[in-house]
Amino acid sequence: MSQRPKLLITQKKINEAIAKLAAEIRQDYQGKQPVLIGILKGSFVFMADLIRELGLQVEVDFVKLSSYGSGTRTSGRVKVIQGLKSSIKGRDVLVVEDIVDTGLTVSFLMNNLQKKKPASLKLCVLVDKPSQHKVPVTIDYLGFTVPDKFVVGYGIDWNEKFRQLRDICIID
Ligand code: 5GP
Ligand code: MG
Repeated sequence: MSQRPKLLITQKKINEAIAKLAAEIRQDYQGKQPVLIGILKGSFVFMADLIRELGLQVEVDFVKLSSYGSGTRTSGRVKVIQGLKSSIKGRDVLVVEDIVDTGLTVSFLMNNLQKKKPASLKLCVLVDKPSQHKVPVTIDYLGFTVPDKFVVGYGIDWNEKFRQLRDICIID
């Protein structure tokens, strides 16, 4: 992989997208106190910006998942490394994910969370690669659609590198 990330989505575009997402979410969750569940590690920067833009009383929790296999593609066999600290039974739950590729990771998590009987369960994704989906995924709030490229930055890494970038970039 080239070590030189190429600009794909600027910080300004990201901020605009988050403001738009936050406005939609704020509208839909008026008077509610949703639990936002971030998928570690990639979603932590997105989560941090999203909750500050939301202006809602929210609770935040994180799960850490791993998919077996190597390289830049998920194998589809997902394992929970760190589960929820809070109970979500009867709660309005919004899952916050950085990027959806095959959809296997979020699909696994949504099925898993649904079993815990939340009052509602929705999905907010910053970057989607719809051409790569292997399973149907319903994204309720979406920031960007991108082609099948490997992206980094804004919390998203390649081998733990590039998370600190303010923009979303491509490496190839
Ligand atoms: P999926 O299960 O949808 O195939 O993949 C989900 C996970 O694979 C993401 O949460 C992310 O960790 C990783 N992933 C998928 N596409 C990319 C990408 O373009 N860049 C990076 N850094 N990770 C990706
Ligand atoms: Mg992720």
